[in-house]
This record gives sequence, C-alpha cells and structure tokens, in this order.
Amino acid sequence: MTTLTQPRPLDDVIGVEPDREPLTSRDRCDACGARAYVAATVNGVELLYCAHHATAYEDRLASVASTWHDERSTLGR
Ligand SMILES: [Zn+2]
Repeated sequence: MTTLTQPRPLDDVIGVEPDREPLTSRDRCDACGARAYVAATVNGVELLYCAHHATAYEDRLASVASTWHDERSTLGR
C-alpha cells in the first residue's frame, strides 16, 4: 500500500542518476548563476540549481523530475 502523507527525500522518490558526472564549479544554477549542487531532469532537460534554489524548488521538482542528483551534502567540505 502506498501513502503520500509524509514528504520524503527526493532520493527516495525519484530515480537517482548514479552515472552522472559530479557537478563542478563550472556548473551554475539556472536560476541565479551560483555554483550548482543539484541536477534534476525535467522533460528530458537537465536543470541545475544551487543549494538555495534546489531547496526552494524541491517540492515542485519532486512532482515533475525524472532524475535527481544532489550534492548538497558536500557543502562546506
Ligand atoms: Zn540559485
């Protein structure tokens, strides 16, 4: 049985793309141009987001993204 009462981490919800190259400092947020830490595939197009915008758009992306690559855990290392 499936219930959708609790939000879950996107890694649990969406297929994670294990083969994706790690994001680098050349990958920039599509919303603001800061360094990207998240890559999401929506309608076959890869969107890049900084940690701030990934968090801001996470709920909306969860319903439309087909893949989700999240490096926010590396922030501050
Ligand atoms: Zn941004």
